[in-house]
Order: sequence, then C-alpha cells, then structure tokens
Amino acid sequence: TATTTARDTKVFDLIAKEQHRQESGIELIASENFVSPQVMEAAGSVLTNKYAEGLPGKRYYGGCEVVDQIEQLAIDRIKELFGASWANVQPHSGAQANTAVFLACLQPGDTILGFDLSHGGHLTHGSPVNISGKYFRPTFYGVEKETGVINYDVVEETAKRERPKLLICGASAYSRDWDYVRLRAIADEIGALLLADISHPAGLIAKGLLNDPLEHCHIVTTTTHKTLRGPRGGLIMMRNDFQNPFGIKTPKGEVRLMSSLLDSGVFPGTQGGPLEHVIAAKAVAFGEALSEDFYDYAVQVKANAQAMAKAFVDRGYQIISGGTDNHLMLIDLRSKGLTGKLAENTLIKADITINKNMVPFDDKSPMVTSGMRVGTAAMTTRGMKESDMEQIVVYIDRVLMNHDNESELATVKEEINEWMKAFPLYA
Ligand code: PLP
Repeated sequence: TATTTARDTKVFDLIAKEQHRQESGIELIASENFVSPQVMEAAGSVLTNKYAEGLPGKRYYGGCEVVDQIEQLAIDRIKELFGASWANVQPHSGAQANTAVFLACLQPGDTILGFDLSHGGHLTHGSPVNISGKYFRPTFYGVEKETGVINYDVVEETAKRERPKLLICGASAYSRDWDYVRLRAIADEIGALLLADISHPAGLIAKGLLNDPLEHCHIVTTTTHKTLRGPRGGLIMMRNDFQNPFGIKTPKGEVRLMSSLLDSGVFPGTQGGPLEHVIAAKAVAFGEALSEDFYDYAVQVKANAQAMAKAFVDRGYQIISGGTDNHLMLIDLRSKGLTGKLAENTLIKADITINKNMVPFDDKSPMVTSGMRVGTAAMTTRGMKESDMEQIVVYIDRVLMNHDNESELATVKEEINEWMKAFPLYA
C-alpha cells in the first residue's frame, strides 16, 4: 500500500529495549505511571492523522465529525470525574495547560505568586527559566524549615505584600494536602485568581481521597499521565465559570467568560492543532478512572505510600514533613551522608528508578541535590501492596548502604529482575 515502507528496526528495537527496562525494574518516579493497553492503543491510532483546530462542533477543518465525538467524550468524562462544568482537554502537556491559563488571565508583567521550585514547586509556576517567570513577575512562598509544611499565615503575608493577580498552588514534590479554603480566602482578600495545578495527585483527588480543589479554586490544571494514569498530556477545568475580573477584552472589545478565554488561551493562544489520538487516549483513561476499580487503585496508591514512608522512617531516613498524605515523598539524604545524585546513579545500577530532588533549604546544586523523590503510582499499577513497599525500601537501603560495592549492586539487580516477573505489565 501507499504507506508500506521497510520496518524501522532501529527505532522498534529501541522501543522493545525500553519496554524491557520498564518491565524488569522498580519504577518509583513519582510523576510516572503505566497506562493500560487500551489507552496505548488509542494513542497509537489513526487519529494521529487528523487536523482538528478548534473545538468539537466548531472546527477550522473538514472531516471532524468523528473526532468531535471522541473529544466530546473526553470532555464529558473528565467533567463527570471531577464534578467540573467546563473542561478543555487539548493541552499537549501540563506546562502547556499552565501557559494557556497565564495567557488567558494575565498581561505581561503581572505579578504571580507560586510555590517555590526549590521547596517542591514546579518550573511553570514562576521559575526564571520558564515563560511564567520571564513574562510575568514571579514571587514565591515555601515550606517552613522546621516542619517542611506550608504555613498559610506566611502565604497570606506574602500575598498581601506582593499583590499577585494569580495565586498558584500545587507542586511536584510536596507530600501534604492543600488547604484550598484558606488559599481562596487569601486570593479573595487581594482580588487574585486562584489556580490549582493538581498534576501530581489528580487521580487521588478524582476519587475523593484528598481535598477537592474545584470547589474553591477558580481554575484547575493537571497533567493526565501521573496518578490519573492516562497518556502524556494536560487539561484545564473549572467547576464554576465566571466573568474575568481583570477586564481582559477580545480584540473586538468584548469581555468574555473565563471558559472562553481559556479555550482561546489553548488555541490559538499557545497551541495549534490538538492531538486527537492523545485526546482519545485521555477519553479512555478518564473512562477507566470513573470505574470502581480505579477507586481501589487510588486507595492502594495512598496505602502504599504510607507503608513506604513508614519503612523509610523505620530505617532512619528523614522524610520532609515527616510523612505523606498522597502518593509521594521527598527524602532528605543528608542524615545518611548521601546526595541525590549519588542515590539516583547508584539505584539505577540495581534497576530502581528514582529522581534526585532538591529538598527545602538545600545547600547543594540542582544537579547534585540532597534529596530523592519517590512515588507509588506506577508500582501500584503493577499490583504491588504494602508489604511490597517494605521490600522495595529494603532493596533501596541495601543499594545505598553498598553504593561502592559493584558486585552487591549486581546481585540486587538480579534479585529485582527476578522479583518483577511476579508483577507482569504488558502480557
Ligand atoms: N505541573 C506540575 C505540578 C508538574 O509536576 C508537572 C510535571 O512534572 C507539570 C506541571 C508539567 O507537566 P508536563 O511535563 O506534562 O509539561
């Protein structure tokens, strides 16, 4: 046929290698997960061929009758999952979702207030290397040194001093739940909008296992590939639409509802054609997340994180904030005389994947760091339970305490590869 070409063994051999890596090791990167075969099937479908600029029913291209139905399914399902009244499922990633919100809500130079990157925040919440920190005036709040927890009185003081137009909550490495009620009160006090970026805990929030941000935050963004267990991607949602408070007008001088500004912030503001194959995969994943099975999964993710945190503490590891409410934890390795870089580089030799991470008030550089971040979403998908978390911590401890003993590291790797056969991934 017209599309027949020689098989690209170079690429497909590498994909097979990567599948083997994923199947044979312990995956603890808190932002990763394993999608179901049907999510992957949708992501690898003919929908990748279709252009569909615009929204369902309002496209700039012909032939969108089918993708309209698919995208509408994704929208309807995510609205049901989170009790939202509006959603845009087109953002290609979490960063894209946040950038679209900034474009919709702010003017260049406006002040934003986010959670400090070095305390567990995300690059897209005002880092100077990201558009959020270059085009806007970024200010930050963090955790307290003694507790590792956010002090909302300090957030309020900072907000009153800096007068941001947008207050951002949500993080990449914060193991505690958020007080959205208090944050909304702070935002209202200074006339700011409140954005929650729930990229990490979205799957737990969806099943009611953490506080509900949609009730209190004006706008909510998330990635779809972490605890939500969908394809790589992002989305924006709101429970209640509202008229934008900063008087941002269209080129024609109209004041618009926030939903309309956000739709425009995605396309044509910051993206072109949506990835309909990924949107179909999102629809499938949201369908899965609506199921009772996913509730059981989310409960297990949390229980596993509790078990893992306890196992680390029992072995003398220091967890920032002392524990976890969600799927992840940040471990300060200084009490063990180790760096994040050494931990990451050593654990990978035993096929344990983690990431080095700055800890609050870190004295080391981002390329070295004093911490490591671990999460339980991926291993829970593989069927692991609390006792398996303890076993993982035993392995981690064995590796770190033998970081210069190559033969011991090789032995642990073999044991882990054998153990992982009991948790098949893609048959
Ligand atoms: N926001 C938060 C809180 C995140 O943790 C991440 C990803 O790590 C992102 C946004 C960015 O998502 P993406 O990598 O899909 O752009």
